[in-house]
Amino acid sequence: MQVHRSEISQDGLNLDYEADPATLDLNGSDAEFVGPIQVRARLVPTDHSVYVSGEVQAHAKLQCVRCLEGLSYPVHSSFEMTVVPKESKTGRLPEEWHELDEKELDEYQYSGDIIDLTDVVREHVLLSLPTYPLCRPDCGGLCPQCGADLNRMSCRCVTEEVLRPMTVLQEKLKKIIKK
Ligand SMILES: [Zn+2]
Ligand SMILES: [Zn+2]
Repeated sequence: MQVHRSEISQDGLNLDYEADPATLDLNGSDAEFVGPIQVRARLVPTDHSVYVSGEVQAHAKLQCVRCLEGLSYPVHSSFEMTVVPKESKTGRLPEEWHELDEKELDEYQYSGDIIDLTDVVREHVLLSLPTYPLCRPDCGGLCPQCGADLNRMSCRCVTEEVLRPMTVLQEKLKKIIKK
């Protein structure tokens, strides 16, 4: 997802890009992506930098943390940033950049002629994913004892939950011994 700085005219450049999720190194998440990651961006040159605004859209398949059911999650995130060249031709940063804090400079730099949006896109896709995906806000989850999907059925374990684990285990052992 690279743009040559020299390709951006004074009027700016519009990007419409479909990225293959496999090329984005999204391994940091458990999500599986269905179809391409869609990126739309506009790059406008300013005096010494390039202003970039855009949005990322994707479809992720996640697993509900409570009932383990698969769910489809639409990713939609917008971004806005200023990218500055790592160094000016004289090897020094122009005066006005000293006002930017270092973090900002680290994050949005480009070197040579290439502006690479890959990291920004990856970051926005990953940050858009929920930490605790739920198939629905009131998902009942699975019974920790018998594994029943409590969204679909109820089980008898609910009353046993108040018993001490040992008691439950003893009951189970008794049943096994009887057999
Ligand atoms: Zn669920
Ligand atoms: Zn149960």
